[in-house]
Amino acid sequence: MSLMCQKNSFLQEYKSPVLSCQSSSLNLNGKQYQGFDVVLEDSIFFPEGGGQPYDTGLLDDQKVINVRRDGNKAILFVESGDDHCRLFDCGQQPLQKIDWNRRFDHMQQHSGQHLITAVALKYFNLLTTSWNLGADVSNIELDTAQISDETIEQLEQKVNEKIRENLPITVSYRDKDDLADIRQQMELPDDLNQQSLRIISIESLDKNPCCGTHVSNLCQLQIIKLLGIQKGKKGKTLLFFHSGNRVLKHMNNLLQREKSLSSLLKCTGEEFVPIVDKLQKNVRRLQKNCTSAMRDLARCEAEKYIRLVDKPKLYSIHRKESEYDFITSFFNQIDNPSSSLIDNRLILISLADDCNSLKSPGQIVIAGDQQLVEKSAKIAIDSFGAKGSISQGRFRARILDISKLPKLEEMIKQTI
Ligand SMILES: [Zn+2]
Repeated sequence: MSLMCQKNSFLQEYKSPVLSCQSSSLNLNGKQYQGFDVVLEDSIFFPEGGGQPYDTGLLDDQKVINVRRDGNKAILFVESGDDHCRLFDCGQQPLQKIDWNRRFDHMQQHSGQHLITAVALKYFNLLTTSWNLGADVSNIELDTAQISDETIEQLEQKVNEKIRENLPITVSYRDKDDLADIRQQMELPDDLNQQSLRIISIESLDKNPCCGTHVSNLCQLQIIKLLGIQKGKKGKTLLFFHSGNRVLKHMNNLLQREKSLSSLLKCTGEEFVPIVDKLQKNVRRLQKNCTSAMRDLARCEAEKYIRLVDKPKLYSIHRKESEYDFITSFFNQIDNPSSSLIDNRLILISLADDCNSLKSPGQIVIAGDQQLVEKSAKIAIDSFGAKGSISQGRFRARILDISKLPKLEEMIKQTI
């Protein structure tokens, strides 16, 4: 027995009597749904199987959000989203309406996989070991550790050549013991252990057992684009692909991206690579200059402190546009000439994460007299939620709001 979706994969609407309907709940992608399980005499909703995801759609006007298989039956989960939802009576014939965009996309990817798999084996001796129909991109796992760019290019040309040949795709049934000319004998689930197997054939090219829904001619795939490879598990290779409308969607996304980049970079697509290369080199040069200028600035600030005749007990510097390198350069200059420069005194340096925000998080470093550093660290941690520790005589910490620094300084001054 097979479901109506397998007999006619192009049916978008259908009516069939309800056999049972009972309250149920479902966990879908970590979210819990309330609703009911509906079993129909026959279903155009495809339950998950053969690598192909389930269909979604409507049963009358109620949402079908999941379909699972139980033996030869499809169990439709209808979400009870609002007060209008109602259970179906046995014998009632609600209108089944599948989300055709989703289903046709699955058909294009699934038939596309059969085609790539068949061509890869026949012309390139590359065996498919599994495949995955992803929501955005699908892949085929090939039993090889490496595939050259040249082979991928030839494989892509060959599958598109087959699409141009308009080869029909047909469904037939074969006895389980008569599978000598069948490409791959998939393992059937235990509860589907039937004598007759459903075979999907691409004329003159391939015969393969499969429970999925397929297009009826390769021309309905329109085009297949191979997107690249990735190293798989156990010496295998994943080959990524788009089939049919996904190629157009991908192309549209690329064009939109190219348009946005053209506007940002003020050039055409052909000029992207040299322009970005030039920009990256400029950025690296500017970063180097900026780091060097910041170190010079830190040394100047340190000299300014060293030359102060009457040094305060707490000397602070607040930088909005600096990196930690500023602090390191500053203290290198202070520590080297004489540690007496910070005897009985403290130096506090703060750096804001976001120079445009007054309440930006940031980091602070307090250095100087060891006992005073310890006292200040306690105040910063206990009263200002600073998170950090003392290392090599300096207290280094993160604070959530840099605008609270004047209060912290006030408290430190009172303590020392
Ligand atoms: Zn299949």
